[in-house]
Amino acid sequence: MESPESQEREDGIRLRKKVQENQEDVESSECEDDAKTDLVKRIIESTKELTDCMPTDLPSAKRMLEDGLHAAAEFSSDMAAGAGAVAEQAGDICRKVIEASWKVCHFQALPHWLQDNDYLIWGHRPPLPSFTACFQSLFRIHTETGNIWTHLIGCVAFVSLAVYTLIWSELQSEERLVFAAFFAGAILCLGLSCTYHTVHCHSEFVGKLFSKLDYVGISFLIMGSLVPWLYYTFYCQYQPKVIYLTVATVLGFGAIITSMVDRFGEPKYRPFRAGIFIAFGLSGAIPAIHYAVMEGWVNAVSYASLGWLILMGSLYILGALLYAGRIPECYFPGKCDIWFQSHQIFHVLVIAAAFVHYQGISEMAVYRLTNNQCPASTEATLA
Ligand SMILES: [Zn+2]
Repeated sequence: MESPESQEREDGIRLRKKVQENQEDVESSECEDDAKTDLVKRIIESTKELTDCMPTDLPSAKRMLEDGLHAAAEFSSDMAAGAGAVAEQAGDICRKVIEASWKVCHFQALPHWLQDNDYLIWGHRPPLPSFTACFQSLFRIHTETGNIWTHLIGCVAFVSLAVYTLIWSELQSEERLVFAAFFAGAILCLGLSCTYHTVHCHSEFVGKLFSKLDYVGISFLIMGSLVPWLYYTFYCQYQPKVIYLTVATVLGFGAIITSMVDRFGEPKYRPFRAGIFIAFGLSGAIPAIHYAVMEGWVNAVSYASLGWLILMGSLYILGALLYAGRIPECYFPGKCDIWFQSHQIFHVLVIAAAFVHYQGISEMAVYRLTNNQCPASTEATLA
């Protein structure tokens, strides 16, 4: 058994060690202000007093030491809380400064992940790591203003048209469904595109994610466009209707999966991207030729809206070619930074093509409203 004196001595050594450790901690810490100097002084004083009074007055030394340690603890927790609050405030201020005061910049000033089209020289948004700032940029003039607004206006127009067609028209429930597929595709495509162009400067991760969703939207638009057209074209031919609708759906989901692959979004794959969507769009040509061969070209133009379909395809292809070739900005670098760049023209052509398609399928629907009886020979194949 240890004597009380030797126990006290040991306690004293332990406490002195603790004070020294504490002192070393404070000295190696990164805070460089008067409070730190003051704290170090207090700890040194308490150490000195402890040394002086030991071992005869250990309890009072202990108390002094505890007071010193308590003060140190209070100080460091105040420091931590203060530092947290300061960091939060600094973050807030930083965010507000970025949101309010960013300026458009040169292509070369952009980080690598925002450099897409080097023919657009000036007027780019810098990275805006805040969704509020991204959405506020809707009301500023920069390289994406035209891209955002073309598809935002298009999206609102298609939402209105969808409400009008699906609620007030005389369509039957099955026909409402095929029209709804078209509207869902168009609204998703325009909405996702508009969101992508708004937020793609947020960060590399957000940019990549929404770029993929932009392509997913295009796939939905093509799929949604094929559904009503195939439905009305093969209105009385059940088997080809089901086969073509299935093929369109499989190709559509194939394009969606391809869109989600990381490499697909890189600028060097631009022609490949354009090619995939042209091929998917052209897959509508096979059933069109099938119908024309089966029913004759006159019927195809009259009842399958082939004229509208060809016009729609031409608009999409023209848009995709301009987009892939970066025409006209490649001929006028720096002159199309804000308006008339290939991407905006492509957006306008996509909207025009979607309206042309709506016109085509509406004419087919009107025809079927008055001629919904299939010939007896085809009725047999329906059974
Ligand atoms: Zn776009």
